[in-house]
Amino acid sequence: MTERLSITPTHAYRNNDKLIGIGNAFWDMSERSGLAGIVAAYGEGVLRTEAGHEYIAEGHEFVNFSCCSYLDLDSHPKVIEGGIEALRRYGVLDHCIARSRVQIPAMLELEASLGELFGAHVVCSIAASTATFGLLPLIASGHLGTGKRPLMIFDKNAHVSMANVKPVCADETEVVTSGHHDLNFIEDACKKYEQVAYVCDGSDSLGGYAPVKELAELQDRYGLIVYYDDSHSMSAYGERGVGYVRTHSPVLDERTIVVMTLNKAFGTSGAAIVLDGYDKETLRVIERFGGALNYSQLLNTPAVGAGLASAEIHRTGELVTLQNKLYENIQLFDSLIHTDQTGSTFPIRLVPMGDDTVIEAGRRVFEAGFYVSPVFFPIVARGTAGLRVMMRAGQSAEQVRALCAVLAEVGARPTAPIPGEAAR
Ligand SMILES: *Cc1c(COP(=O)(O)O)cnc(C)c1O
Repeated sequence: MTERLSITPTHAYRNNDKLIGIGNAFWDMSERSGLAGIVAAYGEGVLRTEAGHEYIAEGHEFVNFSCCSYLDLDSHPKVIEGGIEALRRYGVLDHCIARSRVQIPAMLELEASLGELFGAHVVCSIAASTATFGLLPLIASGHLGTGKRPLMIFDKNAHVSMANVKPVCADETEVVTSGHHDLNFIEDACKKYEQVAYVCDGSDSLGGYAPVKELAELQDRYGLIVYYDDSHSMSAYGERGVGYVRTHSPVLDERTIVVMTLNKAFGTSGAAIVLDGYDKETLRVIERFGGALNYSQLLNTPAVGAGLASAEIHRTGELVTLQNKLYENIQLFDSLIHTDQTGSTFPIRLVPMGDDTVIEAGRRVFEAGFYVSPVFFPIVARGTAGLRVMMRAGQSAEQVRALCAVLAEVGARPTAPIPGEAAR
């Protein structure tokens, strides 16, 4: 019998042995400590109690400080009603055929509404991850952008939904990874290559925003294309909730492509691809060749209806009220616990903890009635462990204060009181 061949992978862009080998230990440890794999049992027809509590099966109440629904729009009565009403209005949950062939007007309605909100052309997809998997290869091949095949630079911290597409892009063009927001690296590449595209988060999941203005200068000087995933700042930031990038980037043409999930502060399902300056032919190419944007399912009608309702809220003063409530909670948190993110409008805080103490700290916080997610080695570098806290508009000041008191007890750094002012 001839010897059969085994495979030696190149692992040029991904390595599951390493990913699972390292990551699974993290999840196992979190789960053993009761900080992952939690099944929250909600009350009849309500996501959160009036006091903002969610429940776990054993009846332990907790306030979720790790949920990305920053404005609590996911359980807003108008959003719920919008979903139900759309299902009745269209009389179908999902229309099972590629939109490039036949579509019902549901998603077109949402795209028109979001387009008006952003002052841009909006294409919806079932998820930001799906949008990214469809769009980045089109950028790689030069079909989306300026028509030239670019050197593609992925930021080292680009969200996994973008990093996962590297091997696919690498089959269409050259792909490199840069340091986090390394503007010098990007500029050097711009001097060397006739076209460069940079892929990064507009707002990072561990806090902080992209250097949108500095990137805009490179866009102006060298025609740099920037692909932003601004999922974390959609709705939570900017007038009518257009997000950080749309608020601050002066380059709003075909060189800037922004993708945002509708599943965080916007409170519904799906994602918005925000485009400026593309002609009809290119939009058709996206629709036909954007991978799952064409062959996979669209947003179902309740998701469209909920999205239309949320978009309406974005046009009213209620959005401003919710954003302000979120910011007040963030400020209250910052006044009590110091983190590297203190002072930012971004709703995520990483409370530093020791690698060997973070799980126990998370467990004690959970026992006290709050869920925050621990991140630690090997999922993040040694020495950068911490409890990730996410603020929402719906948390009460009492809940924020009580959380901060527990955090201080488990080793968080209290914010120094301003001299002459009693600590609040
Ligand atoms: C949460 C998140 C996603 C996932 O969004 P989906 O629409 O659920 O795919 C993608 N990118 C970033 C940056 C995120 O924070």
